[in-house]
Amino acid sequence: MSVLPCRLCGCLPRYRLRSYSSSTNQSRKSKWKSVIGLEIHAQILSKSKLFSGSSTKYGAPVNTQVSFFDAALPGTLPVLNRRCVEAGVLTAMALNSKINKISKFDRKHYFYADLPSGYQITQQRQPLAVGGELAYVNFNPSVHKQPIKKKAKLVQIQLEQDSGKSLHDLEEKQSLIDLNRAGTGLMEIVTEPDFTSGEEAASFVKELQLILQSIGTCDGKMSEGSLRVDANISIHQEGESLGTRTEVKNINSIRGIAKAIEFEIKRQISEKESGRQIVNETRTFDAESGETLPMRDKEKILDYRFMPEPNLPPVHVYDSVGPGVSVEHVVIINQLKEQLQELPEEKRRRVQKQYGLPLNTAVILVNEPGLLSFFEEVLQDSKRDPVAVVTILVNEFLGQIHSREITVTNSPVSAVSFGELCDMLSSEKISLSTAKKVLALMFEKPESRPQDIVSEKNWLQVSDTKLIEETCRNVLTNSPKLVTEYKKGKKKVLNALIGQIQKDFQGRANPRLVIETLQRLIDSEM
Ligand code: ADP
Ligand code: MG
Repeated sequence: MSVLPCRLCGCLPRYRLRSYSSSTNQSRKSKWKSVIGLEIHAQILSKSKLFSGSSTKYGAPVNTQVSFFDAALPGTLPVLNRRCVEAGVLTAMALNSKINKISKFDRKHYFYADLPSGYQITQQRQPLAVGGELAYVNFNPSVHKQPIKKKAKLVQIQLEQDSGKSLHDLEEKQSLIDLNRAGTGLMEIVTEPDFTSGEEAASFVKELQLILQSIGTCDGKMSEGSLRVDANISIHQEGESLGTRTEVKNINSIRGIAKAIEFEIKRQISEKESGRQIVNETRTFDAESGETLPMRDKEKILDYRFMPEPNLPPVHVYDSVGPGVSVEHVVIINQLKEQLQELPEEKRRRVQKQYGLPLNTAVILVNEPGLLSFFEEVLQDSKRDPVAVVTILVNEFLGQIHSREITVTNSPVSAVSFGELCDMLSSEKISLSTAKKVLALMFEKPESRPQDIVSEKNWLQVSDTKLIEETCRNVLTNSPKLVTEYKKGKKKVLNALIGQIQKDFQGRANPRLVIETLQRLIDSEM
């Protein structure tokens, strides 16, 4: 079967060659160690391309953002985009990577229709930065109870051009080329094979995405292809050297990374246990079926004929301004340092310390775009208790945001009215269950304030101690059986008693007062 995948992004029509069951039992899995290394392509957030002035705007009509250079017309020359170098340097600083004071461009040759020049300009021999390390938190609330702190090492960061896009028309049996993306600046970030599971790799990419977004060097939108992840995966047994790896491409979401890797690990184990060898091949991830499928093989036989790019001089970056260093023409590291925003790791540490929150809450606050600033806006009223606010924010507000498939930044509920809701809850004007109902209505009708909803619905909590005590007494007198059971040690029946009392109050009795009163009355009788 002839498959025409594009060389860089690996896009291809959906072929199904062979499928594997994803079930492998745990005991068989345990003797295998899995190893994962990532190659990440991050599109540089820049108005124009790496070597030409054409726009990089996403979603423009096909072939409307193509300069003569992007189309590789003879006689055109590359002009390095300063912004792209600065973005690379900034990213290297954020990732603790060592910036090479001199880096160079190379040509990597291959023949494919979406690469009109027949080569990609990349940085093979002397990349922009080498080494580096990134601390991340392996935490997915639906998988881990507790967050686990991890670190992964980087091999290098290099600048390179993106290719065009091949659009495969299966009916007409033809491939069409859109060169809008051709020549867009990429940062290729390569990690050491430092991950042992799909969850770890996914958490790492999430952290990287947050960093790139916070320093503004990549928008991190995986669904639009601005952040693309290739996962190299192998398995071996304890004491053995690393196994043959496969490379999985076309993963376009954070969850997809975890899924693709977990599937591939299971597939490799099942291959090995059936006596077959792992073939060093490139595979594609099918997000719908959750499987990886072979894509193109014998990649290693390709000879890219690397050679220095003769039309670009080496890139020099300087630590600071000095004799002979003119600010207009070079990139100066110290000047860029000011642009380094508070990084996610520092944010988490600050949030934990400043507001007395546990790490898992800090991770949720920092990982959800816009949530931390929303939280801090609510806390501008210093009377508010951070722990109380964060509890309803993470449990209820975020739940509303997710179920409505919107984002915190475009939440119809403002920090001001959410803060007012928190105040009503903490002053016991409403109960938690009422607060949940009010919040849902606030999302429906963002113009109404929580106080108005509560008074309109007559949902104010009853904290009248006399009234509560009277009702408690009545309920106790009418439920002698329950009281006896409670006295025998069946503490659970308290819930039944509370239920009866709340029924009398249509659920509006102050739960704290109800419990206190009930217990006091029963104890005094004992
Ligand atoms: P290539 O030059 O073929 O791209 P590299 O040595 O640069 O190969 O590695 C590419 C990626 O593959 C890196 O992210 C690296 O961590 C990862 N990798 C290398 N060997 C293995 C292995 N045995 N198992 C899993 N990942 C690996
Ligand atoms: Mg590689």
